Amino acid sequence: MDAYSGQISRLIAELSKLPGIGAKSAQRLAFHIINMPEDQVESLAETIVTARKKTHYCKSCFNLTDADLCPICADSGRDHNTIMVVETPRDLAAYEKTQKYTGVYHVLHGAISPMLGIGPSDIRLKELMVRLQEDVSELIIATNSTLEGETTAMYISKLVKPTGIKVTRIASGVPVGGDLEYIDEVTLLRALDGRVEL
Ligand code: ZN
Repeated sequence: MDAYSGQISRLIAELSKLPGIGAKSAQRLAFHIINMPEDQVESLAETIVTARKKTHYCKSCFNLTDADLCPICADSGRDHNTIMVVETPRDLAAYEKTQKYTGVYHVLHGAISPMLGIGPSDIRLKELMVRLQEDVSELIIATNSTLEGETTAMYISKLVKPTGIKVTRIASGVPVGGDLEYIDEVTLLRALDGRVEL
């Protein structure tokens, strides 16, 4: 028999579907929510629903945004001729945190993985090629140092090279198998500064 009422069990079950939330954390969060003032719970629930509904991809770089263009693409002070290719919006956020990169981005939303059956058409590569028809002076490939990230970097490099656009790859200061999101800012900057032309 369930120790809790159906509603609490349901809440615990829903929370435990979130990444990084195990059964114990889900239970702790559920009890916390139950003890919160009702207006705070309503505000939390409303924020989640609104964020989900209003958020979509930037029509230029595919970062997450609630406007047509994300704040980075909309910023005329940024260098729109330099594009950094990243796998996820979280990677973009990691580079933004350094406050040193002044170009714009292109978010692929994944990486090529023959093992998982993810091909070039499953990520935002076509959209990148369209952007490269504009005035672009450098394409910095900052995909992860995983097998998938390297495969993707190689693929993009081969595709873009004939266009004459300078293609660079961030330095291997980023540990192999490293997820960009967890790497400290100093390492990220070193990787960016030490990028090499492909
Ligand atoms: Zn954008």
